[in-house]
Amino acid sequence: MSNEIRSVDVIIVGASLAAAAAAKRLHDAGLETLIIEKRELPRHKICSGILSPRGHRFLLENFGPIPPQALHDPTSCRGVTFHFPSMVSMSMDFFGGTTPHLHRKYSDYWAIQASGAEVHDQTSFIGMKQQGDDQIVTTRKKGGDEVRFKSRYVIGADGPSSPVLRAIYPDYPQQIPWFFVGQKFHEIIDCPLDEEYFHFWFHPQLGHYTWSHARDGRQIVGVGFKRGDNFHDRHQHVANYLQDKHGVRLKSADVDHEGCAENFGPSLINRYVFGKDNVLITGQASGFLNMIGEGMSCALHSGAIAGEAIIEATIHNRDLQPLYREMISTEVRRTSDQWNPLKIAFARPHEADFPAALMALPIKDRIKVLRDMWRFVCLYKEFKWGREIMRESLARIKHGRYPGIRWQ
Ligand SMILES: Cc1cc2nc3c(=O)[nH]c(=O)nc-3n(C[C@H](O)[C@H](O)[C@H](O)COP(=O)(O)OP(=O)(O)OC[C@H]3O[C@@H](n4cnc5c(N)ncnc54)[C@H](O)[C@@H]3O)c2cc1C
Repeated sequence: MSNEIRSVDVIIVGASLAAAAAAKRLHDAGLETLIIEKRELPRHKICSGILSPRGHRFLLENFGPIPPQALHDPTSCRGVTFHFPSMVSMSMDFFGGTTPHLHRKYSDYWAIQASGAEVHDQTSFIGMKQQGDDQIVTTRKKGGDEVRFKSRYVIGADGPSSPVLRAIYPDYPQQIPWFFVGQKFHEIIDCPLDEEYFHFWFHPQLGHYTWSHARDGRQIVGVGFKRGDNFHDRHQHVANYLQDKHGVRLKSADVDHEGCAENFGPSLINRYVFGKDNVLITGQASGFLNMIGEGMSCALHSGAIAGEAIIEATIHNRDLQPLYREMISTEVRRTSDQWNPLKIAFARPHEADFPAALMALPIKDRIKVLRDMWRFVCLYKEFKWGREIMRESLARIKHGRYPGIRWQ
């Protein structure tokens, strides 16, 4: 191990969208910022790439026009179509028009480069240790030795299984349920699903999260479920269902299927993790995930807030954690509102008009949809989130925010 220790203001772990947003703020403010990424850049990221209007605005305002290389075909998405076991389907357009269909390998790389920060790819975060006011961060370059850095602040923007989060809260992964989401790519024989929309099934027999959409001449069939089940069986079940019920005729899946673990849940029950001392957790690592698994917009916004909190703490010599928690509460409100049944019933927390689409259906279909949604929600009964969601929803009404007491 090299004895020479370089000192920087901030180390960001992960080179994704939360990291890019944080890095942009920090670099613009003149703080020496180093991003470390374990993979070689540009790196693949499993994602449908459907960006919300708010995420789209963030990218345009902060990084400029999205380059064509950073888009999949079809290059844009009009909105979301929900499908129900009773065979009612309803499409909802995004507010403000279509949004880009991001190719994460290139969109993330573009944003990371545009942040202006220094990037070390193929460099993994191994661990860190507090030394006075600083963190000594140990990294390892692929095939090389360990390299240590001294950093005033560390940001964990390292995704759902966040090694930075585990370094400060080793027990956290055991405190939440974990899901597996996997997708396979199929050559299309005939697909009646409108390729301008992202398709999602509220169907308890298909799984906790079932989706399909077109990408680069292929049809993606994806399925999410509690960790432990067999991906190939689950996927085959969904593919058969799409053929039988929707007339989707696909060739056998390509060989390059993929999947990963997801920390779905913390944003539903307001159990975010924001870090400790001079270490901030942000993006999906901290639990941000919007309805239908849209995580890019909240990754971007929370990442930017992490960067701003460090700037504020530096300029005004303030304690970082209370500052970050105060500043991030707006993003918590935004994200958790999407899951809040009272907000869904009486406000419009989403970026497409679900109530209007529901009211456009004949009354008998409306009843079917509400019944099917209730049955779908019951699939999550085993996690006992219902009571927690209601308690947090009432607290939101009473205090105008979600209580920070539940955050780590
Ligand atoms: C199948 C699937 C489909 C999805 N579809 C959508 C969608 O259509 N729209 C949407 O908005 N969201 C979608 N999401 C969610 C979205 O991808 C995430 O919420 C978002 O990417 C989170 O961004 P992030 O910056 O927080 O972290 P991530 O994108 O998870 O990035 C974390 C980065 O950290 C790096 N890293 C991890 N460990 C280390 C380490 N030890 N050292 C260094 N680097 C490390 C990783 O390599 C990665 O580059 C989907 C997710 C999945 C799994």
